[in-house]
Parts: sequence; structure tokens; C-alpha cells
Amino acid sequence: MVRVQAVAPGSLGAALGLVPGTELHAVNGRALEDFLDWEFWSADEQFILSATLPGGDAVEYDVERPEELPLGVTLEAPRIRRCANHCDFCFVDGNPAGMRAPLYIRDDDYRLSFRYGNFATLTNLKPWDVERIVEYRLSPLYVSVHATDPTVRRWLLRNPEAPEIVPQLRSLAGQGITFHTQVVLVPGANDGAELVRTLTDLFELGESILSVSVVPVALTEYSKRDLVRELVPEECRAALTLVGRIATRALAERGFPWCYGADDLYLQAGEPLPPAQWYGDFEQRENGVGAVRYLQTQIAAARNRLPDLGGKRIGVVTGAAMGPLMPQVLAEVAAVTGAHFELVVVENTLFGPSVTTAGLLPAAAIEAALRGRDDFDLVLLPAEAVNDDQRFIDNVEAHDLACRLPRPVRLSCDFVDVLVDEEPRAAGPGSAEPGGVFERLTPGRCPGENEGA
Ligand code: SF4
Repeated sequence: MVRVQAVAPGSLGAALGLVPGTELHAVNGRALEDFLDWEFWSADEQFILSATLPGGDAVEYDVERPEELPLGVTLEAPRIRRCANHCDFCFVDGNPAGMRAPLYIRDDDYRLSFRYGNFATLTNLKPWDVERIVEYRLSPLYVSVHATDPTVRRWLLRNPEAPEIVPQLRSLAGQGITFHTQVVLVPGANDGAELVRTLTDLFELGESILSVSVVPVALTEYSKRDLVRELVPEECRAALTLVGRIATRALAERGFPWCYGADDLYLQAGEPLPPAQWYGDFEQRENGVGAVRYLQTQIAAARNRLPDLGGKRIGVVTGAAMGPLMPQVLAEVAAVTGAHFELVVVENTLFGPSVTTAGLLPAAAIEAALRGRDDFDLVLLPAEAVNDDQRFIDNVEAHDLACRLPRPVRLSCDFVDVLVDEEPRAAGPGSAEPGGVFERLTPGRCPGENEGA
């Protein structure tokens, strides 16, 4: 059974009489277990829907959807599939106490992998899950491989029961499923010869493996640092050399690099990022792969839409990771708009300075960094730092943060989303707006924002 959370006014669902709280049991007699069942079985033009209204009345609807009219039904969030692994580098272990409960959930859910691009390890798949993946064509899936050697992978996942990943991928690939994969690189465990083996095994699985990203392990102050450590720059450079070798082979044999180092790997190695064309369609940008170049392409594409903002002072908040990379991005926006941009690099006071991504910045740290900064006309905050409820990682609402700041703030994914609507600066002293103004312009995910195993 799945339960209705909301029904869009004027939709087919509303016309049927579906209301929040309605329990949807079956479509054409087939029981509904989750949103996937609902979406796949209700996609037909005609079907019988069995439901129970909030008052307890059982109803059977004979639904007709002319021209695939949307039903306008939003379901309650699914119960998340829990992870069966215990990685030493798990971010959940790196959380301090006292945060929002969902942040302590280890999710490893192939359904969210298909829907949102969350990475899953596939270690908790049951036979009927595999059947659904094939039947519903859940493709591409995003898979955390880490290592193809079964012993190394089980060690990394701290899961002696983890099935072998290569036969698993090969079997699903043989049934038409494709994959974007990632390797979280842990020094001394899956780097060097293990990385060569993993990348080679994945490449030789054929074109069903659409891409692989190599991402340096990220730890917080609270991680199990006695068991795992971060890469040093030399190890990052060595990994990039191996990535480059397989990418060269892929370019020759498939016409695209296929294997990508995360932006953070280049940053930690002290090496320049490849050009934007390297990343093709930026398919792993939400995993921090090509995110900077993607941002630059967005700005270049919006060049003609960006207004003249000459004289405006705009603060841009980011984490330490993007600190060295952001000036080249901001230089382009400044050249187009004439505005003066100032980068405000904020240290993560919640997880410690080793956590450098903008997406994990707590509101408290942002507030401290902007305290007294009434010289800005506008401050842009990273949109990926809030969840769908517009709360920062430390549970502060974006609106509350805005009320405590001296100047207007806006959440932005790529600058363009905010700046296209920005008015030129009004003349005269005291013309800047006071604080407390907040708006999220762009719902949904931003580059570099990802979740999952
Ligand atoms: S697979 Fe992901 S969620 Fe599970 S323990 Fe490892 S890092 Fe954590």
C-alpha cells in the first residue's frame, strides 16, 4: 500500500476524488508496494485502482487517462532501504551528535539510485529487487563499486556477505541495465594496483558501464580516523595518472574519456581541471565530477540574459574546496555583469575544517562569516546547503538565517538562476535593501550535490 500525500488542484486525481491520506492498494489487482509500482502500473491509459479513502470507505476507480494526462498525485515518502554495510569512511559515522534524525540514516536504495542518482552498492538486493530492476527497466543505476576484487570490496564495505559486484553488474547489463559507477578512493586499500584492476574490470564489462568516477575519500573530525585517512597530494596525482591512462584507452576505443577524476581529486592533487568538453554531458556532475566546468558552461550560455549590474557588490559564500576554483568562475560573471563579486570562504564549524564542501556548510558558520557585512548589496548562498525543507545541515531554516543577516540573501545553484532577475543598483546612499530577504529560486539539486552509499 502507498499513501497519497497531496493531490494537485484540477488534476485527474482530484477529479477522481483522491485526497491526502487516501491509501492506494492495487492497480489492476497488482498490489502497490512503493512509488515505483505506482508509477509503472498507473502509466497505462486505462486501469482499475483499488483504494481506501481516509474515512475508511473502500473505493474502486475505473481510471481513464486520455493522452496520458498526469494524475497529479504525490505519494508520501517511501520507507528508505537501509544499508547493510559498515564502511569506515561512512559519512553517517562522521556526523556529530544532535543533528536531524534523517542524517543518521544509512540509505542504500536502488530505487533512489534510479530516481535521484543516489549511489547504491547493490549489496542489499533481494532476488525480487533484481526482477523489478529488470522488469521496470530501472536504468541507468548509480553504483558504488569501490573495488572489483571481492575481498577488497568486502573489506572496504565491512560486509563479508557482499556479493561479487562484477557478476552482478554483468548479469544486469545482460538484461539491458546500464550504470554510472564510482570508486571512493581509500589510500592503501583500493588505490594503486587495485584501482587499475577495478577500472580495467569495469571497462571490460562493456558499454553498459556508462562512466566511472574516482572520488577521494572525505572524512570529518568525527570519522573513524584511526581506521582510515585521507589521500595526500602525491596519492591524488598517482590516481589521476591511472585515471588518465584508462581515459586515453577509452578515448581511442569509445570516443569519450569514460573515466573521470572528481574535481576534488584534481584540487587535492594541485592539478588543473580538464576543459569543459572533457566531461561530455556532465553526467556525474552531481557527484562533484566536472561541477566547476559545468558552472562555467551555464554562465557562458546565459551571457546574453545576464543584466548590467555595474556597481553592485555581491558576496558569494562557498566552502574551502571551491575557494581556489571559484575566482575563475566569478571573473567570468563579473566580466559579463559589471558587478563586483567577493568570495566569502566559510570554514565548516560543525564537521571541522576537513569538510570543505559548500553543501555541508552549517547556517551558524555562514552567519558568523557574514556578521557585520552590510557592505554587500546581495549575498548568494550555495543552494545545495539546504534540503527540500530549506533547512541547513544544523537544522536552521534558510528564512531564519536571512532574518539574522544584514543584507538580502538568495540561494543559488549557478549564479545565473538569481542574477538574471537582479535589478541594477539603485542610486543614492542607503539604497541597498536590509537583511531578512530570502528566496530560493531554483528548487531541486545542484551540481555537486549527491547522497547515498
Ligand atoms: S555503503 Fe554508504 S551508507 Fe553504507 S556504510 Fe558505506 S558509506 Fe555508509
